[in-house]
Amino acid sequence: MPWTNYHTHSHFSDGSSAPEDYVISAMEKGFPALGFSEHSPVPFENSWSCQPDSAPEYLAEIQRLKETYAGRIQIYMGLEQDYIPFVTRDFDELTKECGLEYCIGSVHFARNPKNQKLWFIDGPRSVFIDGIADIFGGNLEEGIFMYYNQINLMIHSQKPDVIGHLDKVKMHNKGDLFQETDEFYRKAVFRTLDVVKREHSIVEVNTRGWYTGKAEDWYPSDWILEEMFQRKIPITLSSDAHDPSNLDSGFPEVARVLLDIGYREVRIFYDRKWQPAELTGDGIILPQSG
Ligand SMILES: [Zn+2]
Ligand SMILES: [Zn+2]
Repeated sequence: MPWTNYHTHSHFSDGSSAPEDYVISAMEKGFPALGFSEHSPVPFENSWSCQPDSAPEYLAEIQRLKETYAGRIQIYMGLEQDYIPFVTRDFDELTKECGLEYCIGSVHFARNPKNQKLWFIDGPRSVFIDGIADIFGGNLEEGIFMYYNQINLMIHSQKPDVIGHLDKVKMHNKGDLFQETDEFYRKAVFRTLDVVKREHSIVEVNTRGWYTGKAEDWYPSDWILEEMFQRKIPITLSSDAHDPSNLDSGFPEVARVLLDIGYREVRIFYDRKWQPAELTGDGIILPQSG
């Protein structure tokens, strides 16, 4: 049975290969649909986002692939849009300007409004740990609060289709900085789930932390997935692939957990819209077209 994935980075941002290599890999795996979601350009120097001058080429290449492979696989054009208040561009504006079909909203930098400094939670562990001292005066709880608060603001003000790696702030935790059972942490997560529910967002279940070993688990953690299921929050499966071989990495493993929790359905972007598809342990069952 096939899978789908809409969180994909090619060499237009920090992925390993040309977009076409991902399309070929997806077809070999029997995918009915594949989405590209390069990191949106950000207004500061970095090595991982799509550079503004290569964005038109990215859009043109995805359009070419859509046409070349039409009838064999559905290809969709998206972006993983970074949200940093007062820093990044409005999602809607970028979506219209680029003609995107969907957008994943993610927080990789938590901004401390008191000093305007940015805490990079997705870089080296030393940067993460030094940031707690430099940006939040050593107060980790405040940093985590700012991270989740920024996600809440993003959902509320930008309304992305999909919330990217919801609890990525745990990536460098390794169990020795805080416990996910800590009251402050659970409260922050619950507040975010309330906003997700209110805004009808889709949360991605992102396997990258798990299959790369960068985190101890996928995003979000199992206990959050259980809370999401209780709240009937819809999910989509993402591998956050940075290489064509990773398009479905970890999907069978996470699907087993999701089925145990009670999820029977995932959202897929198919026939140009988000729609439910039945989840099984080894793939999804496509909805009837039309
Ligand atoms: Zn990301
Ligand atoms: Zn990503």
